[in-house]
Amino acid sequence: MTKDIPYRDLPDHSFWQRGVCDAGADVDPVVAVPFTIGVGDRVATAGSCFAQHISRHLRKVGFDTLCTEPPHGLLRPQEAVAFNYGLYTARYGNVNTARQLLQLFQRAVGSFVPEERLWADGGRFIDPFRPRIQPRGFACREEFEADQAQHFAAVREAFETLDVLVFTLGLTEAWESTGDGAVFPICPGVAGGRFDAQRHRMHNFDVGEVTDDMLRFIDLLREVNPAARLILTVSPVPLVATAFATEHVLAATTYSKSVLRVACAEIARRRPQVAYMPSFEIITGQYARGRYFAPDLRSVTEEGVGHVMRVFFRHFVDAAVLGDAPQAPPPPTPAVAHLQQMGQLADANCDDDILRHALATTPALHQVCNLCDGEAFGPGPHGRLSSTGLKPHCERCGSLERHRVASRALQALPRNFLDWRRALLVNPQRKDDPMPFRHCDIAQATAPGALLRDLAAREDGLYDFIVLLHVLEHQDDDRAVFEQLVRLLSPRGVMQVCFVDPHLRPWTSIATGPAGSLRRWYGRDVSSHFRCPTLQVHVKVDDVTDPGTGVVMPVHFFYGHPEHQAALETPSAPTQEISR
Ligand SMILES: [Zn+2]
Repeated sequence: MTKDIPYRDLPDHSFWQRGVCDAGADVDPVVAVPFTIGVGDRVATAGSCFAQHISRHLRKVGFDTLCTEPPHGLLRPQEAVAFNYGLYTARYGNVNTARQLLQLFQRAVGSFVPEERLWADGGRFIDPFRPRIQPRGFACREEFEADQAQHFAAVREAFETLDVLVFTLGLTEAWESTGDGAVFPICPGVAGGRFDAQRHRMHNFDVGEVTDDMLRFIDLLREVNPAARLILTVSPVPLVATAFATEHVLAATTYSKSVLRVACAEIARRRPQVAYMPSFEIITGQYARGRYFAPDLRSVTEEGVGHVMRVFFRHFVDAAVLGDAPQAPPPPTPAVAHLQQMGQLADANCDDDILRHALATTPALHQVCNLCDGEAFGPGPHGRLSSTGLKPHCERCGSLERHRVASRALQALPRNFLDWRRALLVNPQRKDDPMPFRHCDIAQATAPGALLRDLAAREDGLYDFIVLLHVLEHQDDDRAVFEQLVRLLSPRGVMQVCFVDPHLRPWTSIATGPAGSLRRWYGRDVSSHFRCPTLQVHVKVDDVTDPGTGVVMPVHFFYGHPEHQAALETPSAPTQEISR
C-alpha cells in the first residue's frame, strides 16, 4: 500500500482542519500574491459600498491613497463629507457592477454618451450615474455640466496616474437603459429620475458578461496606463433586495456573489498583474460563525473590516510603506469582542441602502436629514421626542422637524418659480441653510414689538417670497404682523408659514406666558383668524413628511395672486416618501 498520494506534502492551508478549524479567529486565506504595493505607489479605490471600508482603512494608517478630485477649498469638512468627497479617488460614488466601471471609463474619455445623462427633477439636476453625490442635486444645468466636466477630468487623471486600483465587485443585478444599455448604480426613481418600464429594465449579469466587462476595462485602462495593477475583491454584503420575484433573496445573493467570485478567478487567470483579495471569504467564512455581521445580517462590523485589512496589509503592502504607522491591534477575545462590536458598525454609504430606505415604512423609518444628509439624531430641546417617538434633532446640522419640512416644501417647488425672487426671512433661527432665492433680507424679532416696527418701516410690495417658521405664535399682535407681511408681498408674492401644529385643534386659543414667549396655539381656523378673505389672501396647505422623524406637518402658503394656485400645485410635492 503506497503512502505516496498527492495530498501528502501539501501545506497546512490546504486542509480544512489545519487551515480553518485550527487557525483560530485570525484565519488568513491569502497564500501568494502576484505583486505588492511599494513606497510611492499611488493606490486608487472604487467599487460597491464595501470598498469604502478599504478606502477608509488605507487612509487611517496613513496610506498614500490617490485623490484626483479634492473638495473645493470653500467647503467645510462636514460639507465635503456630505458631498461625497474623499470617499474614493474621484467623486464617482459607488460603482456596483463591472459594466458600470467600464462605462465610467468610457464616459470619462467621451467614447460613450448615454441618452439619459441628466435627470431634471423638481428644479434640481441629478446625475443618473452618481445620484447621491450632491445632496439635493445640482442647482442648475450649468452647475451640473461644469461639475461633470471636472469630474471626468479627475476620473481620467485617476486612471492615467494610479499604480494600483483596488476594485470591489458588489452586484450582478443592475438597472439599465433599454435604449443604449447605460447601467445605473441605483434603480431610477429611488434617488432621482423617474422609473419607466419602457426605458428601464433589470439585467442580471452572468459570469461571461462580468468577466468580459472587466477584461475590456483592464485593456482600456492599460492603453492609457500600461503598468496599472489591480486588486479585486468581492463585497461580502448581501443584496438588500432582488428584483426577481421568482427568486429568494438568499439564493439570489449566492448567485450574485458566486458569479463575481468566479469572474475574479477568470480575470486574474487571463490578465497579468491582477490579484484577488479574499475579503468575501474572511467575512463570510464558516470559522467566523457569522460574527462579522451586524444584527441586520448585512452590515459588516468594524471587527470584520479590521480582519480583512490586517490580511491585506500583511500580504499586499511592503513593510517599508507602513513604516511606523500604527498596526491594527490583535483581535480581542471573541466573547468580549462580540458585545463590543454590536453597536460599533462601520458606517458605509451604501447606495443599496437607500433602496431599503425607500421601501421602509414609517415604523422602521431610517432617519435622514434632507438639509445635510446626516443620519444621527438626538433628543430635541428639553429632551423632547417627536410625535412618532423618534429623536428630532439632527446632530450634524442641528435642524428640527420644522426646518426640514419647510426646506422640503421649498425643494418641491420648481427652481424657476423661486430663483428670481427677492425674499424676506422673518426671524430665521438658522441663517446658513441654502435658500433658492435671488436675494434674502432678514427681519429679526429682537424684542417684543420690534418685529412689527421693523416690518412697518419697509416699502410696500418689496418681497416676492416671505418665510416664517414658528414666528407669528410669539407675537403679541399677530394679526398686525400678518397684515404688515401681506403689505410687503409683491403682486406675485408668496408667503410660506409653518405654524405649531394647527391641525391638532379646531380653534385658535390663547397661551398665557410672558411677552415674547408663545402667545397662542393656532387651530384649523388659522386663515379666518388672520382674516384672509378680507385681505384677499388665498391659502394652500401642503402636508409634508419630515424625513428625519416621519412626522407629517402642514406647510401653509399664503398668496394674493390666484395664478399661484397652479404653480404651487407642483407634481413633485413631497407629501410621501419615494416608493417603487
Ligand atoms: Zn441635518
